[in-house]
Amino acid sequence: MLAPTPILPPRLLIQLGAAPASKEAAIRAAAQLLVASGCIDAPYEASMLRREGVANTYLGHGVVIPHGMVDDRHHVRASGLAVLQVPGGIEWHDGQVAHLVVAIAAQSDTHITILRRLTRLIQDEVRLAALRITTRKEEIAAALTEDAPAPGAAGPAGDLRQRFDWTVDYPTGLHARPAAHWVETARNCPARIQVRHGAEVADAKNLIALLQLGLRCGDGVTISAEGDDEAGALARICAAVTGLSAGEKAAAKAAADAAARAAGPVAGWNPADTPRVLAGLGASPGLTIGPIHVLSQTEVTVRDEPEPLTSGGDRLHAALAATEGQLRALADDTERRLGKTDAGIFRAQGELIPDTDLITLACQLMVEGHGVAFAWNQAVERMAGRLSALGNPVLAARAADLRDVGRRVLAQIDPSLKSGHDLPDVPCILIAPDLAPSDTAGLDPTRVIGLATAQGGPTSHTAILARTLGIPALVAGGPALLALENHTPAILDGGTGRLYLDPSAADLASARDWSARQRAKAEEEARARALPARTRDGHAVAIGANVNNPEQVPFALDQGAEGVGLMRTEFLFLERGDTPTEDDQYATYRAMLDALAGRPLIVRALDIGGDKQVAHLHLPREENPFLGVRGARLLLRRPDLMEPQLRALYRAARDGIPADAATGKGAPLSIMFPMITSVPEVLALRAHCDRIRAELDAPELPLGIMIEVPAAAIQADALARHCDFFSIGTNDLTQYALAIDRQNTELAPEADSLHPAVLRLIHLTCEGAARHKRWVGVCGGIAGDPFGACLLAGLGVDELSMTPRDVASVEARLRASEMGALRALAARACAQEDAAAVRALAVLLDGEPA
Ligand code: PEP
Ligand code: MG
Repeated sequence: MLAPTPILPPRLLIQLGAAPASKEAAIRAAAQLLVASGCIDAPYEASMLRREGVANTYLGHGVVIPHGMVDDRHHVRASGLAVLQVPGGIEWHDGQVAHLVVAIAAQSDTHITILRRLTRLIQDEVRLAALRITTRKEEIAAALTEDAPAPGAAGPAGDLRQRFDWTVDYPTGLHARPAAHWVETARNCPARIQVRHGAEVADAKNLIALLQLGLRCGDGVTISAEGDDEAGALARICAAVTGLSAGEKAAAKAAADAAARAAGPVAGWNPADTPRVLAGLGASPGLTIGPIHVLSQTEVTVRDEPEPLTSGGDRLHAALAATEGQLRALADDTERRLGKTDAGIFRAQGELIPDTDLITLACQLMVEGHGVAFAWNQAVERMAGRLSALGNPVLAARAADLRDVGRRVLAQIDPSLKSGHDLPDVPCILIAPDLAPSDTAGLDPTRVIGLATAQGGPTSHTAILARTLGIPALVAGGPALLALENHTPAILDGGTGRLYLDPSAADLASARDWSARQRAKAEEEARARALPARTRDGHAVAIGANVNNPEQVPFALDQGAEGVGLMRTEFLFLERGDTPTEDDQYATYRAMLDALAGRPLIVRALDIGGDKQVAHLHLPREENPFLGVRGARLLLRRPDLMEPQLRALYRAARDGIPADAATGKGAPLSIMFPMITSVPEVLALRAHCDRIRAELDAPELPLGIMIEVPAAAIQADALARHCDFFSIGTNDLTQYALAIDRQNTELAPEADSLHPAVLRLIHLTCEGAARHKRWVGVCGGIAGDPFGACLLAGLGVDELSMTPRDVASVEARLRASEMGALRALAARACAQEDAAAVRALAVLLDGEPA
């Protein structure tokens, strides 16, 4: 089928193959075309030449935009364009060579539409190169008119050819994340797509235009499409628009639930009075008291230092590209760590970069003679100001996003304009939208005594780092946090995720008292941590630490760990930009064994896939990576990854373990395989291990599997026949049992590993293992929760492996318990209806809340 020939819009004149003798001749020729089309009066030609005398109209990449002086606008009869294609080029200004002379006659602000198109075009060098020599006017016309109303077209049009009506049912309206998804969908369709709300129309491919509609829940819109495959485009946009509804409703419900949770009493410290409270998710335990400090960027002064448009344009172009790359990397990283939802924030920010209105505004300011940094900053401020002025909180938040992106671009244009963070001199509870892991890692715990972020999840690096630093923290506290006044006195409970504001003197005193008691308890636990975790009736539970590198081993041992129960080896791959060799891995495993000096080490074979994507492995993209080629499935398909790792492990066992310890049960090194679902997988992995061991003449090592999939828990008895031990990955077992993406912040409160369904699967696993006299460990997060640890011991778990910092309190709780009571507690927990009811049983345990 032939592609339809675009119809040239009225008042767009194009002259191909021009060869003007000079810049002045080019301007005159273009002006004559505009005169001939009735767009301008003859005197405007002189005005265009005058303008060239005061400002260089070279836009960049061979495109110039001669136009008249503002005072001469009355000579413009109608908006229009005249394009002179100059294949041989014409010297314009200071060595700049023009190939497309786009003379503009613009009434009111139609030049913005034209500039928008041109500024987009100058970023597409391949297309520009083609336009310089094309012999088809239509090609030039299309480049200047597609997706935008033709020059001179009347303002907001009606609907496009095909349409559907929809009522916004996103409880918080059309905010940046869903809007970015609409834009992404629309941009993948060749047809024009627009969204109309009353008389307001927005191009569905333009994020800011969409957001400016200010759509709230209940607003009716008409979405229409026209052009190539318009029916397909409409179907796709309809699916995108309506497909987001369920997620948006769930997100709003989670926020409402969080607010509801804020109302009731919690385990731990509770105020006697009724201070205002904001609730998020507990990310790093501890109670802290101090003044609020909302993190703000330090102001930077952007001086106006004019520079030639070409170099300015190039610098802006490079800064935009670099920022786009930076945001893409940030989104990819966030998606890997926290999931799609949080990554959406950065993807939405990335959508703001190519916004044509914004670039146009910046280019206009540059064309007017302003410096690039100044022009960009002004453009951002004007656009953000417009968004804030609409009085819509959703748009106000977008203004903040825009300023944030603006700052990133500014720092790319001129690194000296990078804004830093301010911090008060007194210790404070720091409030931030979110913190980059590098920012969190740099926090000084003597100055930042608590941390609360509006976004993020408890599994974020920020949360992990806060725990490492021992800073009480809450995450996902919502935007209300950011509106708090600096210096407001507050109590932050990082265990329950609550922030109490303006507490009474009595509450402050009781919180201080509670903290002091907790500290005393922790000190007592620390004193006892060298002792084994034996219950009062003499039942020992082995305690391991989850540690990934040899440097962390001394700290883990110091905390009371008896060995390493989980070494996640994918971090050897994730933390570097390339694949470690067999020798690299061998050195690391040897160093781990040396650091542990004969204590047990369980190394988990690579668990790549799911949220742990290793960019440099270039693995195929999957729709559902958590349900795809992950863990053992990947190992069995990629001998190039599995073989060097197994060889390195067996070599380390052969060379690093004293001969007498290297035989049979009790050997310090064990290998464990992740994401096992079936017996044939175990048999295949075991066969590989046997072969490699024989090749290397290495000792036999215990081979275990992770129980992370319900199928494995249910079939534990069959699997136990073929392996030496189990370690239950409760993080994944919870995810797969409850069908809740472990990275989903909204659903995080429901993804509770103490859900009775998960407990029953753990119980089944222990029963299956016991039938073949295998031991069972747990290395998921719940092992580090003192109450969870007690339940696990009661369910029949023999070993618990956790973050080193959790060891002392878990051991203390186990030591204070009776095994018989824990078994009864576990049986009761399995019979509960939901996770909340299980958690409520904590009070039964020695009368102490968890
Ligand atoms: C788990 O799933 O509980 C586990 C320990 O493995 P990871 O968190 O590394 O997936
Ligand atoms: Mg796992």
